[in-house]
Amino acid sequence: MSYMDLKSPPRREERLKACIAHGGSVCDLGGKGKKSCLVDDGERGFTQGSICLLLPALAMLNTLPDNVVLMHSAIGCGTCTHSQNANVRFGGNVRWGKVKDGVWLSTALNETDVISGGEEKLEQAIIEADERYHPFSISVVSGCVPGIIGDDIDTVVKQLQPRVKAKLLPVHCEGFKTKIWATAYDAVYHSIGRTLLERSRVDGAEEGEGVDAGMVPYAGLERLPRTVNLMNVSSMGRVDELELTRLLTALGLEVNVFPVFAHPEGMVKATQAALSVSTCPTHDDYFLTYLEERFGVPYLLKHMPIGIENSGLWLRDVARQFGAEEEVAAIIRKEEAELQEALAEFRPLFTGKTVFVSAGEFRALATARLLEELGFRVVGIRSFHHDEFAQGEYDKLAATAQEDYPIDIANVQPFEEVNLLKRIKPDLFLGHANGNATAAKLGIATHVIYNTGLAYIGYRGAYDLARRLARQLKNPTYNRRLAENLTLPYTDEWYGSHPFSYINSRGGTTV
Ligand code: SF4
Repeated sequence: MSYMDLKSPPRREERLKACIAHGGSVCDLGGKGKKSCLVDDGERGFTQGSICLLLPALAMLNTLPDNVVLMHSAIGCGTCTHSQNANVRFGGNVRWGKVKDGVWLSTALNETDVISGGEEKLEQAIIEADERYHPFSISVVSGCVPGIIGDDIDTVVKQLQPRVKAKLLPVHCEGFKTKIWATAYDAVYHSIGRTLLERSRVDGAEEGEGVDAGMVPYAGLERLPRTVNLMNVSSMGRVDELELTRLLTALGLEVNVFPVFAHPEGMVKATQAALSVSTCPTHDDYFLTYLEERFGVPYLLKHMPIGIENSGLWLRDVARQFGAEEEVAAIIRKEEAELQEALAEFRPLFTGKTVFVSAGEFRALATARLLEELGFRVVGIRSFHHDEFAQGEYDKLAATAQEDYPIDIANVQPFEEVNLLKRIKPDLFLGHANGNATAAKLGIATHVIYNTGLAYIGYRGAYDLARRLARQLKNPTYNRRLAENLTLPYTDEWYGSHPFSYINSRGGTTV
């Protein structure tokens, strides 16, 4: 049985043995050490926060054109949409020349609904969204409350589908279900697969019990022999899509960018491609396995095209599938020669400078490797979770590390980060726009690791990042002034404690 036959995807804790709590080191996780973080029990004795599934799920869903996001949840759930809307407007503008807000609604479940159930409210909201906006699709996204009180969004959707024009996509994001926020990607892909790519949910063919039975792949659609599904992520800007498209088209390939900012109506094209290539294995493994199993589309899920070495490995893997090894070798030779020449002016400034990186696991590790290539010395990494896909990246970093350094597997937890930063005192910190504050308040030069307006990926991304980092390092005055005028809310006792002391069954001792 495929996971897609289930109403909702499994938790990544079970499916991938993923975890969010480990304190170790690069040599512990990579190279000869290869110690799984599951020696820890995946919990902390104290935690400052977590990441709800809605955050990454809505970052994808809000970008889909002609789609209404209907949250079936309490009123506060999904308010991250307010900040994500800037990306929706910007992303739409750079792709189609149109500034358009995402459309998102909430059933705003209250105390009465918790007692009497919220299914009726959901029905009315779906009908109203369909009549008011006439969208191609409505994503019905459930938060914690319906999961707790037992609202069955799948049955509501199934019963209502014949009465509304929009395709209804149930998306299960009950926040309490898992601490591995990346499960949200599976939830969105699960919904896309079951409702937009499989015929039974689209035209009612061969339905058996519930929405689970009778799912039949689109039949008769031709294979597109030179088309590659380029899997994007919501944190990847158009500029990065264009860089990868440039490299793939140089190999004579057609590119189908999927699924962020892809129109739901055209998503079926992903089932016709000759190959799917991931840009982030954390993001894509669930869906690419499904595309291969169900539609025979092979996939590549190994490298993230950030940095010089990784971009080349990523591109080579694609070219090999199409017998274009010679062409790709020539492309990579030319790109690397131009890039190395362009980077020469920055090397004296970067060489020996220390850097700490914080992000989702694959991005953090690939960026760390790029920073090494630019001449920095990586001295610490915080990854938001850990799973098997990152093993190759840890191996690469363990092989190139000038010294062992700490790896903190943490779904945020700024108290661990501040403890590490106080000890390590890096020259530079790369993290999320909203995750740079602690480092900035310590006076460390910071740069954002995700910004959809800036280039990070491929050869262009390596150069642009270097240019931006040089600017930051030449004038870190703003953060220095912040440190002089702000106090962080932690005690000396905490700064004197081991940074991983709250992780149950502590890992490495590199700090
Ligand atoms: S964890 Fe639950 S209650 Fe909190 S925002 Fe997420 S879905 Fe809503």
